[in-house]
Amino acid sequence: MQAFSFRMPTKVIWGQGCIEQNKAELTSLGKKVLIVTGKKSAKLSGALDDVITSLASVNINYIVFDEVEENPSLETVAKGGRIAFAEKVEFIIGIGGGSPLDASKAIAALGTNNIEAKHLFTGKLSNPVLPIVSIPITAGTGSEVTQYAIITDHEMETKRNFSTGETFPTLAFLDAKYTKTLPYEVTVNTAIDFLSHALEGYLSRRSTPMSDALAKEVFSLFKGSYQALLDNEINLELREKLLYASMLAGVVISQTGTCMVHCLGYPLTYYSEIPHGRANGLVMTEFLRFNYEVAQAKVELFLDLVGANTIEGFDLLITSLLGERKKISDEMLEKYAYSAAQLPAIQFTPRIPTEKELLEVLKRSLS
Ligand code: NAP
Ligand code: FE
Repeated sequence: MQAFSFRMPTKVIWGQGCIEQNKAELTSLGKKVLIVTGKKSAKLSGALDDVITSLASVNINYIVFDEVEENPSLETVAKGGRIAFAEKVEFIIGIGGGSPLDASKAIAALGTNNIEAKHLFTGKLSNPVLPIVSIPITAGTGSEVTQYAIITDHEMETKRNFSTGETFPTLAFLDAKYTKTLPYEVTVNTAIDFLSHALEGYLSRRSTPMSDALAKEVFSLFKGSYQALLDNEINLELREKLLYASMLAGVVISQTGTCMVHCLGYPLTYYSEIPHGRANGLVMTEFLRFNYEVAQAKVELFLDLVGANTIEGFDLLITSLLGERKKISDEMLEKYAYSAAQLPAIQFTPRIPTEKELLEVLKRSLS
């Protein structure tokens, strides 16, 4: 068997009411916390109120930073970081979809390191990152169990990854009731995101026997959720399944990273404002076709486990979830192919694509 290592230091606490039931876990992290959220959904979902109630009952003081936008920018994390630093908070709680959860990791690093936010990408920090608690309220990114913070860098015109061995959340509370308020499109897009994590991790040059075991479970969970997702028959039981699958897929990429699909997805989001999970879904079929010859056995097992049998069958399945695709001009696609080719994660694709091949994949997916 191949040599591998597996490190996933986050303590995952799962179940209805898990924040209130496990609030004592927070007391060892400090007496003052910065809560990082998006503009509305942390409140709307009920998660923010539950956190505040639990913090009050264990005498932890809090400040709320609720300005994180979708695909958070360096400017936003810099602002949150300045608050964390100035207020001398001892830990960070992120509540949200991937955007606030990722922002909370960058803010945790800036809370102890008085540096320009763009210097985070060097990965060199003088002081330890503050402890992070993650509460996901979408079921897609798995950010609650990964070390990654995907931050938009407007100077570089792309999304970039900041991570260190310390940016894994210390604690993750997963309660699917907070995902009940998700709009249908976000539910579907985020489900496609976790499928993409499991698929890219499974085919990645960095895959391991343990990450593969989890990825296969995610494929089966996706198969079991597909029809209800398509029919918009989404009850709490399905939401639990989606949140669980999303977390498992997060553990997969915490070991393997993502590869070609996410590299292509980032420029689609940056330049064409396509939501993250949807952007991945748009290129997944062609990713399978492009890599089929070098990863045939794995691609076939993936197709079998998601209930598609063939790549054409998978295309029908994913297209039925994505709906109509907007065409993008060849001129724009050239820019996207260039941008994707610069990203380090492209090297983990089983068949490493050239910029020209990336353009072909984009054209087959979007023109
Ligand atoms: P998101 O950008 O966090 O949120 C999308 C939208 O959904 C926002 O308008 C948000 O509102 C709303 N929303 C979130 N939860 C809701 C709820 N429970 N009820 C109602 N509305 C809700 O979406 P996401 O897809 O979870 O995250 C995408 C980001 O994560 C991207 O930046 C992507 O690059 C990153 N990502 C990170 C990793 C990782 O490993 N760290 C992996 C994949 C993707 P508010 O703005 O009010 O919150
Ligand atoms: Fe993703």
